[in-house]
Amino acid sequence: MATRREFIKGSAAAVALSVMGVPAFGAQGDTQADTWVKGVCRYCGTGCGVLIGVRDGRAVAIKGDPNNHNQGVLCQKGMLLVPVIYAKDRLVRPHIRKNGKSSPLEPVSWEEAMKFATDKFAQVLKEDGPNAVAYYGSGQALTEESYLANKIWKGGFKSNNVDGNPRLCMASAVGGYMSTFGKDEPMGTYDDLDNATCFFIIGSNTSEAHPVLFQRIAKRKQSSSEVRVIVADPRRTNTSRIADMHLSFKPGTDLALLNGMAHVIVRDEMDNYRFHGKYCTFQKGDDAVTFDDYKAFLQDYTPEKVAEITGLAADDIVKVAHTFAQSSATTSLWCMGINQRTRGVWANNLIHNLHLLTGHIGRPGATPLSLTGQPNACGGVRDVGALAHLLPAGRVIGNQQHRNEVEDYWGIPRGSIPDKMGLHTIALFEAMAEGKVKAVFIHCTNPAHTLPHLNKHTKGLQTAFVVQTEAFMSAETLKYADVAFPAAFWCETDGVYGCTERRYALTEQAIKPQGEARPCVNILMDFAKRLGIDEKFIPYKNAEDIWEEWRKFNEKGPYNFFGITRARLRKESGIKWPCPSETHPGTNLRYVRGKDPLVPANHPDPIFFYGKPNAKATVFLRPYAPPFETADAEYPFVLTTGRVIDQWHSATMTGTVPELQRAYPTNFVEINPEDAKKLGIRNGDKVELETRRDKMVLPAVVTDVCMPGLVFTPFFDKNLLVNKLLHDAVDAVSKEPEYKICATRVRKAS
Ligand code: SF4
Repeated sequence: MATRREFIKGSAAAVALSVMGVPAFGAQGDTQADTWVKGVCRYCGTGCGVLIGVRDGRAVAIKGDPNNHNQGVLCQKGMLLVPVIYAKDRLVRPHIRKNGKSSPLEPVSWEEAMKFATDKFAQVLKEDGPNAVAYYGSGQALTEESYLANKIWKGGFKSNNVDGNPRLCMASAVGGYMSTFGKDEPMGTYDDLDNATCFFIIGSNTSEAHPVLFQRIAKRKQSSSEVRVIVADPRRTNTSRIADMHLSFKPGTDLALLNGMAHVIVRDEMDNYRFHGKYCTFQKGDDAVTFDDYKAFLQDYTPEKVAEITGLAADDIVKVAHTFAQSSATTSLWCMGINQRTRGVWANNLIHNLHLLTGHIGRPGATPLSLTGQPNACGGVRDVGALAHLLPAGRVIGNQQHRNEVEDYWGIPRGSIPDKMGLHTIALFEAMAEGKVKAVFIHCTNPAHTLPHLNKHTKGLQTAFVVQTEAFMSAETLKYADVAFPAAFWCETDGVYGCTERRYALTEQAIKPQGEARPCVNILMDFAKRLGIDEKFIPYKNAEDIWEEWRKFNEKGPYNFFGITRARLRKESGIKWPCPSETHPGTNLRYVRGKDPLVPANHPDPIFFYGKPNAKATVFLRPYAPPFETADAEYPFVLTTGRVIDQWHSATMTGTVPELQRAYPTNFVEINPEDAKKLGIRNGDKVELETRRDKMVLPAVVTDVCMPGLVFTPFFDKNLLVNKLLHDAVDAVSKEPEYKICATRVRKAS
């Protein structure tokens, strides 16, 4: 382990860089390590490659992997990851609550904890049936863990109640890709960032949420005077520092902006008719319509009308549409500002529309690239289908052929997998509160901190029997756990992560787990076997065996990564699928002849949207719709929430690192100077936010990052659980909650 002095020296540099929002090179810790083990950063969906320095069986250092996409660069969170392993706060023994929720968690043996957990699950399965048990997983779990849990629940227990926190962040992006292109996951990669001449960034504070990607965009911007950056965000975040245009639209009006851009592009004949005429269909609801119908639909979105809705200048809407269309290659980037909305899928569709209309797709630098929040939401949950409506590799529960394909592959009788979807996250926690779901296995996530409308949904945790795998004692959800299994953390075990750009990369085991912690695949297998799941159904010795089964699952479909063997992952720093053979180098440009191995070499067209039966992507007519809650006379401000650069999610990891904790010790509320003046609020004053759910007092940061009428708070601080303030209305299609917008009162606290 690094000495305190070495650590502080390195950390000071990292925190200094943090203030500037600039990722760092170099190594953190004792660089005299005996060995360097390859891995992936544990935090965000950028998926940076790391090398972990090990000496005498301890992790002592970290540096960026020069051979991965991040080319040796890490942000400060990644640079300070090693001390998290040895945090005092690690959960290192199994615990149970022997006498109900009000009794304390007590340390016990693994045998006692497993028996306690499985006795209860066995009782519920026997008395109430499979729909009374659930698995709630995570975009931070390893791919092998999510695949295994999905198989155990859907194929073993015959319960489709498998959902997870990607429902809260990426479900709308999945819905967007699935509806527009027929298959999930983006067609572009990070290489597009080096080739784009226009970046359209909407609903993403890339500089704080994906710092290494932001650095790459900034580098591209510096490399050529031709490159334009447009940032559309009601907040003037750090990301807008490199913007040529910052569009500060009224919160929740982005659908109007996107349709307004489409209107200008079509009106000014900047659309690429040869592209959309050949490769696209147009659709309103379930009905096919024509391009002329689409043009008529766009008449409601003249720049003047959109200016009224969004608060932007009509000229700016025209200018941004022209810049988007006229660049030689436009990349769009978006994240939770688009996804966490009651019309998140529609907003995703409207971004895709702009690319399909202009033909900015399928060329280097021209792509709609949705950014992912967690390190393995793509690979671990979206690809393996560990959500209530999905099955592995793009299959869906509602399709009998898909169910049969999975049953055949898993070697179980046809009809084993129930034909009804399980419960999506919000419905699951409601069912727990109502006593319909009686026992839940929560893996690698902290819903008591991160669900919206927490006062409502912690009732589910209070009511149901909760088994939790966890690495840190500080996790809020442990307050409700009946059983806590200590989980091996990060490089204490091995497994594959799949990041934003379809890149699978391996974290190898570098050190032994702390205390009595165990790899989660071992925990899940032990748990399942005690509940009668046949050894032949889960015959794995380790995570590598699970990867082998999963890799072969995809030998014949559009999610083909048969060629990504464990041996290759050990040698290479990540491989992007499709990758059908062990000699294939991986794919940058999906759906493109000569680039994507799933497009036949002799295909007559250079683009082949093979995800759709008619091989055409869909331009959807999606009208503007306001958010679930808007500011009104009673609650006159809009509250939005998000990340800060030095804390991650519920801070169970970053909160253990003093340097990161010092940079952001607590949640706070940003308020515009005009509003602050009217309300008599000064920097550092205590401010009360009150919504229709709850109220809370936070310290004020008076700043013009927020436009008048808008306040922002991060959500990492467990002592100020701001998600109590949020409503839980969900997108009609994706069932993703609208975290980003609710109405609030603001006043100076006495
Ligand atoms: S950008 Fe994300 S993945 Fe990369 S080092 Fe930072 S937190 Fe880790």
